[in-house]
Amino acid sequence: MSKKDSPKKPAAGNSRRIGELERLGPGGREVLVLGVDAPGFDDLPTDRKIFAYYLYRAAIAGNDILYLQNHRDAFEIKRLFETVSTNSKGLRDDLRDAINEYLKLVWIHHGNYHHYTHTKFVPSSLTKDGLREAVRCARENGATIPTRPNESVDGLLARLEQTIFDSDHEAIQTNQSDGVDIIATSAVNFWDAGITEKDIETLSLDWQHKLNVRFTRRDGKITPEVYKIGGLYGEDLATVSHFLELALPYAEDGSQHRSIELLLDYYRTGDEELFRQHSIHWLKSNPTVDYLNGFIEQYLDPRGIIGNFEANVSYAADVAIVSRIAENALYFEEKMPWPDKFKRSVVGLPVAKVVNVLVETGDAGPVSPAAYNLPNYNDIRRDHGSKNVILLNIENTRSEALLKKMVAEFYLPEYRDNVLEYAHAKVRPLKVYMHEVIGHGSGQPDPATTTDPRTALGRVYSALEECRADLVALYFLSDPKLVEIGAFTNQQQAAIVETAYVMQTQGWLTRYDHIVDMQVREAHNKGNQLILMYLLENGGDPKKDFGLDMIEHDGDYFVRVRDAGRVRKGVGELLEKLQLMKSTGDYDAAAALFDRFGTRVNPDWHRNIVRRLEKLNIPKMKAFVFPRLEAVIKTGQVVDVRVYHDEDLATQQLRFSRLRHVTDIGTH
Ligand SMILES: [Zn+2]
Repeated sequence: MSKKDSPKKPAAGNSRRIGELERLGPGGREVLVLGVDAPGFDDLPTDRKIFAYYLYRAAIAGNDILYLQNHRDAFEIKRLFETVSTNSKGLRDDLRDAINEYLKLVWIHHGNYHHYTHTKFVPSSLTKDGLREAVRCARENGATIPTRPNESVDGLLARLEQTIFDSDHEAIQTNQSDGVDIIATSAVNFWDAGITEKDIETLSLDWQHKLNVRFTRRDGKITPEVYKIGGLYGEDLATVSHFLELALPYAEDGSQHRSIELLLDYYRTGDEELFRQHSIHWLKSNPTVDYLNGFIEQYLDPRGIIGNFEANVSYAADVAIVSRIAENALYFEEKMPWPDKFKRSVVGLPVAKVVNVLVETGDAGPVSPAAYNLPNYNDIRRDHGSKNVILLNIENTRSEALLKKMVAEFYLPEYRDNVLEYAHAKVRPLKVYMHEVIGHGSGQPDPATTTDPRTALGRVYSALEECRADLVALYFLSDPKLVEIGAFTNQQQAAIVETAYVMQTQGWLTRYDHIVDMQVREAHNKGNQLILMYLLENGGDPKKDFGLDMIEHDGDYFVRVRDAGRVRKGVGELLEKLQLMKSTGDYDAAAALFDRFGTRVNPDWHRNIVRRLEKLNIPKMKAFVFPRLEAVIKTGQVVDVRVYHDEDLATQQLRFSRLRHVTDIGTH
């Protein structure tokens, strides 16, 4: 990369790049790019910050592996466009914009297949000639275009053009359609092109079921290549391991230490059994700073077996308030609105960890999940449990501009100020904490029954359980204990409770665009619909009044909380019903309740909401730019770590690319 054209270093000033940074795609409707905050990181003990720094470098070192896995050309496409983009001095503006827009989408999706749909995308405004012109310009600017050994630049372009520009060529990355050869028709780079299901069946079951492997054809024979140091992706895994080794002495406790040792052994040998052992220690550790690193999710493989690389680093969020809620779990349990025999006398540990992420790479970022529940090995989950992690800062990162537009469009004037003030500062985090910490863990089965509620409730279990945990949070927001533990002040409580009720109901309404065919199907959505309709229809009892109205104003629909006290009564009544169904495993009652209140949708409301959402021009997906960590070095030792929010998507992704094989600690 030539110095003069490299993307500008972030300004020395302290403009914190948090919230909306840019919008991509035609009309800005494709991707909303958001900068993520790292609240409280500076206050962590120094040794936790140093540990986090090494894990952060380990995560970045593995980032390119996912390009290599996604498609055989994805990494070379990224590298070509990065070279062209950073050497574009003198290039026509429209051409530079076209190059940069495609490159940003390639970074976001780790290649040219869409992260969610696994279908190919092509440049929206770049042509083959345009790319050739940009390559010529980069070479005139002194750039070396990276090619394969003995390959000309023309040869490289000829080889990549079809992959980049032809949307029909290898259109599907992961093909799970019936009646096709799912191996031969999936473009994912888990096997050589031309390999079929039959070919893979010639291998032993052990090889067929391996997590960390790619299949190649060598001398006519199907040969597995294992992901390990000295094997496939060996150089990347060696750099990842270098930083894991530096992190190791800083591990917080025995299980975390062991989890890293086993991960290192696994990367050294490729032996999946070591990764399984790693997973057990990983799920049992509950440290301040935590991480993910490995070949984990398996949905890029149409068979659901081979794992794609991902990594992250996180630290526990709002430890004080979460632990105060947890310490009072028994207090809340005793006040649950259901009969004592369905209450627990001992309350276990919180079901989920709430964390802030510092970085997510590979399959975990820049497109981020909201939460994860790992490991994926079913027998380990059965015998040892799993770790359920919620990414609070991802959940809380938003565009202020978009939020203001949403609030102005969808909330009645009397709620707008409170929603803007409390939605992200109080209501959402508290709801997440209470949902996870006192929601899921609460209640117990009828001592007289022996069946597991999950089995008894079958297909309605998830919807019921998610809804039940939400209701616990809504129910206790008005409890004096929350003031006592410092969640908010006495003066704020009434406004926060009202805001939570209106956000629960109106907020769900604004997601009606997720509903197809006027039928709510997804578990969380069913729970949201149940709460909305149960309150609006007073539990189906004309003698009751749960204080919530749907009002029409100039043809637009709005939810109004007429009486927050009555809403709470409705919340408590529904919560009690769900708990009874769960405790007694009453499938018929649960199914009837969801069929009546949680499934059907009023088409007038649906049409209205979808129309208003379209008017707001909201991007279809989000991508994140993470904080930049910098090690403070004294006499060769890392003595502290600083966090900066000074990068945009391009600066950050170019830095990740530069750091691929870099093992030193200086400023990068
Ligand atoms: Zn949940």
